[in-house]
Amino acid sequence: MRSPRLYVETPLACGTRVELPAAAAHYLLRVLRLGRGAGVRLFNARDGEWSARIDTAGRDRVQLAVEERLRPPPELGGPTLFVAPPRRSRFEWLVEKATELGVGRIVPVATRRGVAKPERMERLRAIAVEAAEQCGRLDVPEIEGLCPFDQLLERLREGPAMVADETGGEPLLPALARSPRAAFVVGPEGGFAAEEREALRALAGGVGVSLGPRILRTETAAVAMLACWVAVCSADRGAMWATT
Ligand code: SAH
Repeated sequence: MRSPRLYVETPLACGTRVELPAAAAHYLLRVLRLGRGAGVRLFNARDGEWSARIDTAGRDRVQLAVEERLRPPPELGGPTLFVAPPRRSRFEWLVEKATELGVGRIVPVATRRGVAKPERMERLRAIAVEAAEQCGRLDVPEIEGLCPFDQLLERLREGPAMVADETGGEPLLPALARSPRAAFVVGPEGGFAAEEREALRALAGGVGVSLGPRILRTETAAVAMLACWVAVCSADRGAMWATT
């Protein structure tokens, strides 16, 4: 069995000792039934991935001794996804899938026709951590609080953005191949209101993109965009992305 992989915020370096939060300690000791000397992998975006060993194990308390670096920290973060949040369980699904696909940051955006607000931020963050642990990525995406629509426009002035537009646009793949560092924008179930669409179209760096002839749900559209981004980056970087 491969050693369990846990995200920790503590700095990781050779010889460092790391005390795990109670939930992670409980998982190692009671669920996996590991004891002193067992190997674990620890990771975060700043320090990369490290091997570690259980050094002391008490009742729901675990201290690990960090040994050697297995993978360096990632060079580039994934794209930012600005998305009108779908309802609860659909948004949770989106957080998990977007994390697996490499999203760098998820920003829920308030729109005219968007009805849902992101709820239970702690739970959403825990879903992102768990997905990062499971899929092998080194960083955990940031999940921000609700962003007002005018702030979205402000932030998109900083660089290129692909705006998913179900009424038509440039096919995503070639647009992304030109601009793989662009942010992604996906609207609410009810679609963007006319004035929102106008404002997004007027952005200097904004490109309206089509994801095909069918109307996708918000979370499907977001996942489809991220899958295209993975495809474009994999073609560019080839074997560099092989997982260990
Ligand atoms: N209510 C609208 C659909 C909104 S779909 C209608 O019925 O016409 C939710 C969001 O997903 C949209 O705002 C858009 O950003 C994205 N989306 C859905 N299907 C898409 C497609 N085929 N191409 C591009 N974006 C799409």
